[in-house]
Amino acid sequence: MKKYKCSVCGYVYNPETGDPIAGIAPGTPFEALPHSWACPKCNALKDKFHAVGDHETTHELLRKFYLAEDVAYYFIAVILFIAAISIIGITITHFLKGFNTVNILNVVNDILLVVIILEIFSTVLIYLTERRISLTPFILIGLISSIRRILMVTAMMSARETTTDVEFSRSIQELVVSAGIVLTLIVCYYILSKVTKSAERCIGCTGFEKRDDAPPGV
Ligand code: FE
Repeated sequence: MKKYKCSVCGYVYNPETGDPIAGIAPGTPFEALPHSWACPKCNALKDKFHAVGDHETTHELLRKFYLAEDVAYYFIAVILFIAAISIIGITITHFLKGFNTVNILNVVNDILLVVIILEIFSTVLIYLTERRISLTPFILIGLISSIRRILMVTAMMSARETTTDVEFSRSIQELVVSAGIVLTLIVCYYILSKVTKSAERCIGCTGFEKRDDAPPGV
């Protein structure tokens, strides 16, 4: 039975020992592992494994690429965290300026921006820990961005003392487009939640791997 190596971290799956922690009995060939099985060291899925001795140089290069990718993702996570903290600081200054319509809208706008950044931050962390990309955060980011735009257009309309017909017409068009995007994304979110309901879920992600032990129809 062939040994298989993880292209991400270098872990070697030995069929003779199996993977006792994941409940894989000794003697289980790599091909017989369930689709949901992941690397015990880095959580990479089966498609990131290759037979030991098979194109080792290429896979070594690939492993260096994954390492560089991880460093880039950690860097992005740090930048996002700093950005979120900075915006919270700006929000506090807006809040301290007093309670008028413009300041309150600015605070709401800043909070929504922080939520967007935190969604991207959590997506990066999920990728680094689970090696899975979830679609849900992207839908949520789109929803929050569109709602943010609607709020800003509405605020600008009410802040203007005089509005020309052209400006009014443009603002209405923008509101209609943003509302359309919000509705489309809600439909996408609904469909996605229906699809993932019958698929395996784990904390922090919406993996699409069907559970091997799932009862029929679930
Ligand atoms: Fe691995």
